[in-house]
Amino acid sequence: MIPLFLGASIAHKEGSEDDLISTNLVALSLFQIVGEGRMLSLSNIEVVYSDVILVLKGVTLEVPDGKIVALLGANGAGKTTTLKAISCLLKTELGKITEGSIVFDGQRIDQKNPEEIVKYGIVQVMEGRPSFENLTVEENLIVGASSRKNTTGIKRDLEMVYNYFPVLRGMRQRVSGYLSGGERQMLVMSRGLMARPKLMLLDEPSLGLSPILVEDIFKIIKRLNKKEGTFFLLVEQNAMMALSISDHAYVIENGRIVMDGPAAELIENEDIKEFYLGLSKIGKRKSYRDVKHYKRRKRWVG
Ligand code: ATP
Repeated sequence: MIPLFLGASIAHKEGSEDDLISTNLVALSLFQIVGEGRMLSLSNIEVVYSDVILVLKGVTLEVPDGKIVALLGANGAGKTTTLKAISCLLKTELGKITEGSIVFDGQRIDQKNPEEIVKYGIVQVMEGRPSFENLTVEENLIVGASSRKNTTGIKRDLEMVYNYFPVLRGMRQRVSGYLSGGERQMLVMSRGLMARPKLMLLDEPSLGLSPILVEDIFKIIKRLNKKEGTFFLLVEQNAMMALSISDHAYVIENGRIVMDGPAAELIENEDIKEFYLGLSKIGKRKSYRDVKHYKRRKRWVG
């Protein structure tokens, strides 16, 4: 933000409109040199599987540098498809982007391949995706760093990962096929971190974990965001937990974004409470029948 502010103040001194434009252009390039303002933007993304199944119908969303953004929605709404569109993993599933654009750090990335996306600093951690089962925990982590050359950096990051997930340190020589669901979840996140991502796309990190472990994982996401500067697009069914650590959130329904806003506001939103927690206005839990009925009549927007 500082360079733009600088630009505006110089322009104010000079006075003319031309000066304003040129100084703001200088400011804009300074802005890029400083490296701030990295942003992921999806504009009007449409995704089709097998040439006929239209799943995303014009998704527009943004993940600004340094922020945690949640993407919430029911089963089959299109959350994972959105992540795969960003990480370019659609091709492996006969899916393609047929409309719209995806820009990261000022560059179009929607027609790249998955390896290039990792080089841009974007890593997707797949929902419940098993690690390389025959490799040890540490070997898995080293595989995560395979896009990097700097061995000193890799050693340092192994330490970093073990500090975030101390339980993995004690298991470094354990064959990963024998890990529990929670340990495996920590391993896939850690393996993603070993690529030193700028942006992590996390698909349901809470899936199948005990409530205590879910809390731990979410605290770690928040710490990574604050300390390492990693920013996150977080897909979750556990809406309240996701909203509690996010800056902003989008709700996707049937392939369309139907609501978005600051997480602190959405957490208080009656529709969100009712839909995800089944709570009525006075805080009483509704019956499943009521929620089903609600699902039929709900209107997110308006
Ligand atoms: P969940 O929370 O259940 O994981 P989701 O919101 O992540 O759901 P997606 O996995 O993106 O949803 O799926 C959205 C829709 O696209 C679903 O109807 C799904 O059946 C369909 N779909 C996903 N992958 C494919 C594919 N490879 N071919 C055809 N249809 C697919």
